[in-house]
Amino acid sequence: MGYIEMGKQYVMNTYNRYPITLVKGKGALVYDEQGNEYLDFVAGIAVNNLGHCHPSVVAAIKKQAEDMIHCSNLYWNMPQVELARLLVENSFGDKVFFCNSGAEANEAAIKLARKYSKKKYGEHKYGIITMQQSFHGRTLGSLTATGQTKYQAGFEPLIEGFKYVPFNDYEALKDAIDENTCAVMLEPIQGEGGIYEADPDYLQKVRRLCDEKGLLLIFDEVQCGMGRTGKLFAYQHYGVQPDIMTLAKAIAGGLPLGAMVATDEVASGFKPGDHASTFGGNPVSCAAGVAVMKELLGGVIDNAREVGEHLKSRLLQLRESHPVIVDVRGKGLMLGIQMAMPDVTAIINGAMEKGLLVLSAGHSVVRMVPPLVITKDDANKAVDILEQVLTEMGV
Ligand SMILES: *Cc1c(COP(=O)(O)O)cnc(C)c1O
Repeated sequence: MGYIEMGKQYVMNTYNRYPITLVKGKGALVYDEQGNEYLDFVAGIAVNNLGHCHPSVVAAIKKQAEDMIHCSNLYWNMPQVELARLLVENSFGDKVFFCNSGAEANEAAIKLARKYSKKKYGEHKYGIITMQQSFHGRTLGSLTATGQTKYQAGFEPLIEGFKYVPFNDYEALKDAIDENTCAVMLEPIQGEGGIYEADPDYLQKVRRLCDEKGLLLIFDEVQCGMGRTGKLFAYQHYGVQPDIMTLAKAIAGGLPLGAMVATDEVASGFKPGDHASTFGGNPVSCAAGVAVMKELLGGVIDNAREVGEHLKSRLLQLRESHPVIVDVRGKGLMLGIQMAMPDVTAIINGAMEKGLLVLSAGHSVVRMVPPLVITKDDANKAVDILEQVLTEMGV
């Protein structure tokens, strides 16, 4: 039996998988079992920001694995402290809580927002407003925060105290606030929902509104953080700072790690025992995270900005000969190509056959989230393949 048949027999059926088994990666390239090469513009869904098997990440993992793999948060470990320091020194934040995934980072943010607000204002302060088309994860709390019924269906009852408003609609947000509201949570650039950017003016007004009403502002930068948009964190494009920010995906170069960053004031809402994670801040993941931060700040973010602008302008040019392309959205190397078709699966399959991996965001958007280390040549190659696919489809 091949691995795909075995997978169908033994692995629970929760993913729609493409029929290839990937065995090796190097930089922006991955290889399947048959030795076919693909240019990887999925990057593990915005995870492998330094590309596959980046030498500094590999070296950091090897070294830490030989020194210590796990020790529990009953004790301090050096990579965890070092990564927290790097995150704090390069963001609005003062304190970091580590966990293992984006969903868990958002659970932590929901819990901290409630704990802090109840302590400060009373038991009635627990409501959280999130955005329609948002994505915050699959655990019950983060799933409730996710403003898409398609992910929630069948799992009710959900968590109490959540409301959803249209993204970039200031009046709708203002109207949704009531005496229970304690926080507003949003992705500065929505990822899974279709690559929608927050308007700068909207985000600035939301910040002012939160200050006036005593609400916490939570930014989910699980996908748009870690250099993805051409700045270390997406909020840095906007001149607006959150009170809490969540990170995961790319933070540890492909190892599981999540983080919640908060100001000292808000972080004071948690005292020892209020929240915890057995593996959170694991030494190997954090050692990889330290290597990632050093590479990102050492020039990779600048490359993401430059190559991202080039890729976006080439995609916009492509629109002239292929009117099926309605719009190209996003910043840096977090780009969404809005297509005038209900489903982009045929485009994704066509690109895969020609050696380019891309994915969807929503149903009608082709998403490109390549490693941040790609060259302009890589970007050109991807655009050329996409062009061939659209031409062959006659769209
Ligand atoms: C992927 C994602 C999550 C969930 O992360 P997991 O690690 O899969 O739990 C949360 N928020 C955003 C914005 C994401 O893109």
